[in-house]
Amino acid sequence: MTDNHIHIGQFEKVYYNASEVFDAVFASGIVDHLLFSSTTSCVPDVAYHTIEAEIETALKLYGPEKTAPLFWFTPGYIEQGVDIEKAMSDLPYKGFKLHPFAQQWDIENEKHCSVLHGIFAYAGGNNLPVLIHTGESGIDSPNRFESFFAAYPNVRFILAHCRPADTTIAMFRAYLNVYGDSAFAPRERIQSVADAGFAERILPGTDFPITHYLQSRRLNSNAGNRMLSLREQYAEDLALG
Ligand SMILES: [Zn+2]
Repeated sequence: MTDNHIHIGQFEKVYYNASEVFDAVFASGIVDHLLFSSTTSCVPDVAYHTIEAEIETALKLYGPEKTAPLFWFTPGYIEQGVDIEKAMSDLPYKGFKLHPFAQQWDIENEKHCSVLHGIFAYAGGNNLPVLIHTGESGIDSPNRFESFFAAYPNVRFILAHCRPADTTIAMFRAYLNVYGDSAFAPRERIQSVADAGFAERILPGTDFPITHYLQSRRLNSNAGNRMLSLREQYAEDLALG
C-alpha cells in the first residue's frame, strides 16, 4: 500500500530525519511505497538549496521508486529565482505540494498566479499530481484553487485532509480531476465523503510524523503518559486511517 502523505524535516521544534521516518513507515509491513515532502519548506525564508540537499539525502535511503518526493513550492522561491523545470529535472520529483495556510499564496498577485500556472502546466504535461493542504481558515478552503481545477482538467489535484467535508464534496461533484487524502482526517469526515459517493476519490495518507509531533505536545501537558516511538505512532496512524 502507498502512504500518499509523509513528511521529513524540520517541524516547529523537532527535526525528523528521513531515515527514522522511512524506517518507521516500512517497519509497519503494510506500507511499501510513500510520497513525501519536507516540512523544512515552512521555515521562514528557507533557501531552496537546503530543501534540495535534504531530498537528495533522503532519496539515498530507499530510492525514488519506494520514496517519491513532492516539490513543495513556496512563494518565497519566486524571489529566489527557483526555476520549476530545472528543479524538476534536478530531482526525481513525482508531484507538487502547496500549502495555502503555511504560505501566503495570493492568486491576485501576478507573480504568484503566473508561477501557479507554471506548476499546473508542468504537472499536466508530465502526469504528476498536486497535493494541496486544506483546512477551515478560509485561505485553505478546498475551493481556494477552484479556478485551476477547471483550467487544468488533466491535473490530478489532491485535497489533503478533505477539510471541511462539505466543500471537499462540492469540489468532487464539480471536478472529476479532484481527489482527497485521509491524512489527519477523523473517521467521520472520511465517512461523510464516502457516503456522498466518493470513497474511491480518497487516497490513503497519514501526515506522519506530524502525528508524532502533536502527540508529544499533548503529553507535555499531560505528565505521566509514555511517549510513543515513531514506529508505535505510525502503527496507530495506520489503525486509525
Ligand atoms: Zn502534511
